[in-house]
Amino acid sequence: MSFSLSAYFEGSGTRFRLHPQSPVLEDFREPETVWLSSPRGSLAPGPSDRRMYALTPIAKRPYLDEDCPPYCGPVHPPAMPGPDGHFDHVAPDSPAFLAVHMFGSIRRVLDIWEVYSGGPVPWHFQMSFPRLELIAHVPWRNAHFGSGYCECGEDADDAGVMRPFALNFDIIAHEVGHGLVFAIAGIPPVGTLTTDYLAFHESASDLVAIVSALHFESFVDHILRRTKGDLHAENELNRIGELSGTRQIRSASNALRLPDLAYRGKPPDQLTGHQIHELGQPLTGAFFDIGVEFFIARLVALGVVTPAEAALLREVQGVEDLDTAERARIRARYLQDPALFRRAIRDARDMLGLRLARSWHRLRPQNLHFGDVSRCFLISDRELSGSRYTENIRECFAWRGIIADM
Ligand SMILES: [Zn+2]
Repeated sequence: MSFSLSAYFEGSGTRFRLHPQSPVLEDFREPETVWLSSPRGSLAPGPSDRRMYALTPIAKRPYLDEDCPPYCGPVHPPAMPGPDGHFDHVAPDSPAFLAVHMFGSIRRVLDIWEVYSGGPVPWHFQMSFPRLELIAHVPWRNAHFGSGYCECGEDADDAGVMRPFALNFDIIAHEVGHGLVFAIAGIPPVGTLTTDYLAFHESASDLVAIVSALHFESFVDHILRRTKGDLHAENELNRIGELSGTRQIRSASNALRLPDLAYRGKPPDQLTGHQIHELGQPLTGAFFDIGVEFFIARLVALGVVTPAEAALLREVQGVEDLDTAERARIRARYLQDPALFRRAIRDARDMLGLRLARSWHRLRPQNLHFGDVSRCFLISDRELSGSRYTENIRECFAWRGIIADM
């Protein structure tokens, strides 16, 4: 049911080494070797190809609203492909690795979502800029994806050490998520932008980051080891854009409901960036719960839990107490047969990713509301699975105060 990109592109594609999560975290200090879709030998120095090119400027200020590529200032030497066309020989401590990691992470996210989307996803700005410019480092505590560029800054970890975002897969995947949503769901015409559209954008980008990270074998193993199969336990799956073992920028498994956020009714120009991120969290939380719902359904299909046990697990979803009998039972099952849990999590990942991409194709960006997002997701799910999951999905949205306009 699920697919492995590295297995698919092994031999024909190009090897890179990527950190599945911030290398600040001990389990991800060593990058994992992955295969990207770029045909072997097709990548030029940078790395670069027909779609994008990576640069590491020596001293560049971040692009502002009126700026646009190309950047023509001084840059560090580009990363060179190895004699066999791969980039996995570039050492993580070399200056060129930032550009390699950023290029590889973006290509990886595109590979994943082009499968879910059913084909190539062109950049939304391709009429103005033929290629995406990747700026691997600017002295700035942020990252952004604009017309023709994606730019990564840096931030301090808990010990005060500056950590470049170009090495943080979650942050890069979130930024590429914005590009994917612009390209697939579209950009609202003037006068039709809603607060919900902006919040949906942040939420969808977080979901791109979560689903994409789950394509790393070491990340799936790490999640299962930490949670012992109980995905609601607080762990790295719930954290996006992590800077240390205890600090994160956004949280996917959250208890926020739309009615809790009083400023929801305000027009987009009266909200701060932080408020828009927060407004997206009930939507992200609903999709996180739906992903766990798919995971439980796959555990039932694989014979790991009975339908009656699955019903009990659903009841304790979101309950803080981790010591319920049902949760203890699922952890015991995991220790008996971790391979089945690995399979269930990969299946759930692809069920969620496929339905998300399909629902974005259905959305209309003008005057968008969360009810449109949930409706398009329900329709996409029904296309693939009939009515099997409809009620549970509807409940996940309803608990968050999101009602599908059918
Ligand atoms: Zn964002």
